[in-house]
Amino acid sequence: MNRVIVVGGGLAGVRAVEALRRKGHEGEVILVSAERHRPYDRPPLSKAVLAGDADDTTVEVDWDDLRCETLLGERATALRPGDPRGGTVVTTAGELEFDGLVIATGATPITLPGHGAQHVLRTIDDARDLRARLTPGVRLVIVGAGWIGAEVATTAARKGCSVTVVEAADAPLSGAIGPEVGALTARWYGEAGVELRTGVKVAAVEPGSLLLADGDRVAADAIVVGVGVRPELGWLDGSGVEIDGGVATDAAFRVTVAGTPRSDIVAVGDCAAWWSNRYGRRLLVEHWDTALNAPAVAAATLVGEDAEYDPVPYFWSEQFGRMVQYAGHHPVAERTLYRGDPDGSKWSVCWLTGDRLDAILTVDRPRDLVQARRVMTAGTPVDPDLLADPERPVRETVKP
Ligand SMILES: Cc1cc2nc3c(=O)[nH]c(=O)nc-3n(C[C@H](O)[C@H](O)[C@H](O)COP(=O)(O)OP(=O)(O)OC[C@H]3O[C@@H](n4cnc5c(N)ncnc54)[C@H](O)[C@@H]3O)c2cc1C
Repeated sequence: MNRVIVVGGGLAGVRAVEALRRKGHEGEVILVSAERHRPYDRPPLSKAVLAGDADDTTVEVDWDDLRCETLLGERATALRPGDPRGGTVVTTAGELEFDGLVIATGATPITLPGHGAQHVLRTIDDARDLRARLTPGVRLVIVGAGWIGAEVATTAARKGCSVTVVEAADAPLSGAIGPEVGALTARWYGEAGVELRTGVKVAAVEPGSLLLADGDRVAADAIVVGVGVRPELGWLDGSGVEIDGGVATDAAFRVTVAGTPRSDIVAVGDCAAWWSNRYGRRLLVEHWDTALNAPAVAAATLVGEDAEYDPVPYFWSEQFGRMVQYAGHHPVAERTLYRGDPDGSKWSVCWLTGDRLDAILTVDRPRDLVQARRVMTAGTPVDPDLLADPERPVRETVKP
């Protein structure tokens, strides 16, 4: 394999470049990325960067050492896979032939209809732009009480903005963790001085206000739309690459082209829907830990090693002064079980099927998270009665 092209310069892209070199790939590596910035971390954008506590989150990498050519501010516009291997990526900088390809184009925020200005939060430029608008007294309306919406609300309220969050579902985070657990976070908004309006559908973003589906308007000096993201896949149209929510891959991140799994084309990060043998389904995990760790497996596949990615997915969020962490995959679970009082300050919720721990969400209980993640990774059964005791460490609830 001579030339590998990595399309997308987010965390997944840069980690793929590093992993390729670590795995001994000696040929050319070219990183093509639509952003003009060197790869940077996104989690701080809605936290420290928005708060003004950080301004640069560039991933520390020695590009010379990596011998990687970077084409920044350039976009892949089409993919022409060769038969049976290799192919060509068409980019705004010209056509690039490849022997190996990493698809790491991430995701793009969904926006709403209407002619009013909509702020989204995906890039460092988005974060700097929004930060400049968060001044005391500004009426900020956030559409979507998801992870990003809550984080922006946290920072904006701290900066003295008058913050309203409008959510179509009946509870925050319903899509991510279900309405029962999501509803437990609703009071956090009020306590932070943020108005939360649930069950409210938005029709359009207009200049100076949000038009609701029932005809009402919510006046705003600035509107942030945080209603989710879509994998960035348009450039793959017509390429024959299989799509299943994201780029469909097997557990080794091999992409299927025209019905054939290809060891020379892999996809990772927010754009990839990978097969999880652990859960028996494809997962599209739009979180940092996956972008960090999956590329090592994808690079192994490219250099011809046998590898499989099968972790217990993990992510975190910082909401209204609380550290919220999640591990596992709750949609497979039968029931929930609480450790501690969810009306209190520190608690966890476990999702279980029989004596199998499927997922955990912790609020300021990092030890629960770490231990539960280990238990889930090992697949060891737990005693639900013991697990319900918040004083007992999760690791001591494992069945002998
Ligand atoms: C504000 C914010 C806060 C977050 N906070 C958390 C958190 O607290 N915890 C957590 O677990 N996760 C968090 N995440 C999620 C995490 O940052 C993402 O999962 C991670 O960035 C995904 O990395 P990626 O490399 O797959 O995609 P991206 O970071 O989206 O990178 C993809 C890159 O590809 C480029 N690109 C797209 N299309 C093309 C093309 N056609 N040609 C060339 N380049 C292209 C894009 O411009 C982009 O630079 C947060 C994300 C955001 C936006």
